[in-house]
Amino acid sequence: MSKAHRGKTLKAETPQSGRGKCPLCRRTGVKLLYEYEIDEKKLVLCKQCNSAVKSGKFKEAIVPT
Ligand SMILES: [Zn+2]
Repeated sequence: MSKAHRGKTLKAETPQSGRGKCPLCRRTGVKLLYEYEIDEKKLVLCKQCNSAVKSGKFKEAIVPT
């Protein structure tokens, strides 16, 4: 697996190393590395929220029912 979310690759692809505010946990200065597209809206989540979404915790938050 390539390190798409670390180091050189990350800095080359994202101007601020992907840092910003996570729309789910609302932390600032976290690296937003995981993109979701829901209803043509793009959400970029931090690592923690990504794993939370994967385990089903935040599914309601990103997928409107
Ligand atoms: Zn988050």
